[in-house]
Amino acid sequence: MDHTHEGFEHLTNVADALEIFLKTVEKHRPKRELQPLASCVGRVLAKDVAASQDLPLFDRSVMDGFAIRSLDVQTTLPSLPIVLDVIGESRLGQDCRTIVKRLQTVSVATGSILPKGADCVVPIEDIFQVSNHRISLTSPVASGQNILHKGEDFSRGKVILEAGQRLRPQDLGALKVLGFAKVHVAAKPRVGVMSTGSELVEKNARMLRSKIVDINRLILLEMVTECGGGGVDLGIVDDDQQSILDALRTALRSCNFILVSGGSSMGQRDLVPECIDMLGRPGMMVHGVAMRPAMPTGLALVNHVPIISLPGVPVSAIFAFRVFGLPMISRLLGAQEVVTATAKAVLSEKVRGVLGYRFFVRVKLYRTERGLVAEPLKSQKSAVLKSMVDADAYFVIPEDVPEIQANEMVEVTLLR
Ligand code: AMP
Ligand code: MG
Repeated sequence: MDHTHEGFEHLTNVADALEIFLKTVEKHRPKRELQPLASCVGRVLAKDVAASQDLPLFDRSVMDGFAIRSLDVQTTLPSLPIVLDVIGESRLGQDCRTIVKRLQTVSVATGSILPKGADCVVPIEDIFQVSNHRISLTSPVASGQNILHKGEDFSRGKVILEAGQRLRPQDLGALKVLGFAKVHVAAKPRVGVMSTGSELVEKNARMLRSKIVDINRLILLEMVTECGGGGVDLGIVDDDQQSILDALRTALRSCNFILVSGGSSMGQRDLVPECIDMLGRPGMMVHGVAMRPAMPTGLALVNHVPIISLPGVPVSAIFAFRVFGLPMISRLLGAQEVVTATAKAVLSEKVRGVLGYRFFVRVKLYRTERGLVAEPLKSQKSAVLKSMVDADAYFVIPEDVPEIQANEMVEVTLLR
């Protein structure tokens, strides 16, 4: 696809750009580290984990009630109740040696061991207590009812979690109950984040009109952390070739992936892409992507380290990160997929696309009787940071779609 836009002669479409970029780390195998469970939420599992034992270890009751032999009550009816002798109790936390024989029963609790001889449990609410030692039943119970069989939850030797999965609290619970105290997770890739721009300050204390507060570094470092990377703060660097080269050289020595915001375009002060090219091969592989926002994005590889040259405009930097940074970090982690929650929503009004560009439309979401409704934010300008702050989600208008009509269904990517 050829365009002439703001000095870019050629724009690469998003899909091609992403493929070219991710290919650079095809052979990457993340290092792994053994970590205690409590620090592993969100971490990526580095090895398959198989159940080390059957769980439960014994047949258990899943109800408070009475363990019985289904055979004994096969013929019971409301007019023909069957009376059983209560011969004991299977208590939580205690072993149970009692054996249930014909017309006998043992009281059980949720989670307690099913006594030998019994093959099902009648919930307490379904019996009639005749006396302290006798209960009666008026309907049959099928064998296996209200029981969790040995190995029914986790079966010894079966893989329960696969390499590449991001660990959730419930996964950690399963690991703990199976006896694991630590688990092998992918080491966090070191992701360097640098802001470039001579106008940038950490804090505009005197509220000078000419200065711009650097917010990309904060935003990008937080997004890196959120998706499982290890952020490395590389500070603010002036628009000066030597300064940028020095900062990038230092970063290349210590980082697995580098994000440089600002100076990515074709202006006289946009020095980042040429600096990247001076540092090693292959250098810039894509410069200019057919997307809005974030068209002046550059994708590069230097000494096996992938680099994104992100536009300085914060909203654009955020989209450049979401589209190229997130999947790259997932790759570096050996993660199975990128975590982005999506939903279907009805579009509230017609939205025009930008032919030839992948257009990212920021929306607010409302819950209504007809389901989720997506309302495009009034301003879609990349210069409007509030459009990102107010956005609950965004959806994509593909390159070849001129417009999406009101009431059409769109798939939104959630931002909260
Ligand atoms: P650039 O991509 O360097 O041409 O910058 C485009 C616009 O984004 C300019 O107005 C910059 O001042 C602004 N900008 C660049 N970097 C940052 C940053 N780190 N934080 C906030 N604004 C920035
Ligand atoms: Mg700049």
